[in-house]
Amino acid sequence: MQSQKKYSPTFSYEVFPPKTDKGVEKLDATVERLTAVSPEYVSVTYGAGGSTRERTFDTVFRLLDRGIDAAPHLACIGSHKEEIREILEIYRDKGIKRIVALRGDMPSGMGEPGDFRYANELVEFIRAETGDHFRIEVAAYPEFHPQARGADKDLLNFKRKVDAGADAAITQYFYNADAYFRFIDSIEKLGVDIPVIPGIMPIQNYQQLARFSDACGAEIPRWIRKRLEEMEEDLDAIRAFGREVVMDLCRRLLEGGAPGLHFYSMNQSEPVLGMWKELKQSVQ
Ligand code: FAD
Repeated sequence: MQSQKKYSPTFSYEVFPPKTDKGVEKLDATVERLTAVSPEYVSVTYGAGGSTRERTFDTVFRLLDRGIDAAPHLACIGSHKEEIREILEIYRDKGIKRIVALRGDMPSGMGEPGDFRYANELVEFIRAETGDHFRIEVAAYPEFHPQARGADKDLLNFKRKVDAGADAAITQYFYNADAYFRFIDSIEKLGVDIPVIPGIMPIQNYQQLARFSDACGAEIPRWIRKRLEEMEEDLDAIRAFGREVVMDLCRRLLEGGAPGLHFYSMNQSEPVLGMWKELKQSVQ
C-alpha cells in the first residue's frame, strides 16, 4: 500500500437526480452547503437502461450552471452504441470532463442487454469515440462484486477496466478498512497503479443501510449491526454512533494513504459536511 500515497487527498461526493420539484429544491440546498467545502467534483447517478437519462442531464447541467465540476455516471447495460455516442457528444459539448463509467444493473425482467456486457467495454468505447477528452472513473469493490465468479477473477476484471483506459476508481462503500488496503495490495501486484478512492456511506438509518447493503453486497460488520439493531428507532443514537464509526474509518483510510474520499451523500448535506470539515483540517 505504498503507491497510493503519492496523491494528495481529494474530497468529492455523489448525488442522485431528484424525481420531484421538492427534491430539486432540496438538492440545490445540499449542493449550496457542500460547495462551502470546495469539493473536487460532484458525481450524478444514472439509471441503467437510460431510466434517469433526462433527470441525470438536468441535474448535471444545474451543477454546471453553478460552476461545479459535474461528473455524470453512465451505465451501459441495456444501451446501444448510438445512444451512448449521443450522450458522450452532449457531455463533451457542454464541457464535461469527467465520467463515471459503469455497467449498471438491469432491473429484473427488463429488456434486452444491448451492445455492452461489461464496464470495460464501455471504457474502451469512450476512449475510441472521444480519445483522452474525459477523465474516466470506474467502480471498484474491495469486498468483491456480488456476482463475481471468484476474488481473483474480480480483480482481473477490474484490471480490464484500467487496461481499457480508466484513470481512477471509486469504491463501493465498506466499513472494513482492511478490505480496502488488501484490495490495493492485490491490484498493485497486478501492476495496477491508479488512484482508488474509497466510497464512504454515512450511517443515518439502519433499515435503509441494511437494505442497500444486502442489494449491493457491502458488508456491515457484525459488531456494527448488533449495536445499530439495539438502537432500534433512536435516530439520534444511530447517527452519533454512525458518525464515530465512519470518522474512524475515514481517518484510518487517509492515514493509510487513501488518495481521497468520495461521499455517498444521498442528497443530504448534514452527515457529510460535519465529517468533511473535521477531516479536511486533519489532512491540511
Ligand atoms: P463491471 O466492472 O462490468 O463488473 C460487473 C461484474 O462482471 C463483476 O462481477 C465482474 O467481476 C464481472 N466482469 C467484469 N468484466 C468482465 C468481463 N470482461 N468478463 C467477465 N466478467 C466480467 N449503477 C447504476 O445503475 N447507476 C449508477 O449511477 C451507479 N453508480 C455507481 C457508482 C459506484 C462508485 C459504484 C461502486 C457502483 C455504482 N453502480 C451504479 C452500481 C454498479 O452499476 C453495479 O455494481 C453493477 O452490478 C456493476 O457495475 P460495474 O461497472 O462495476 O461492472
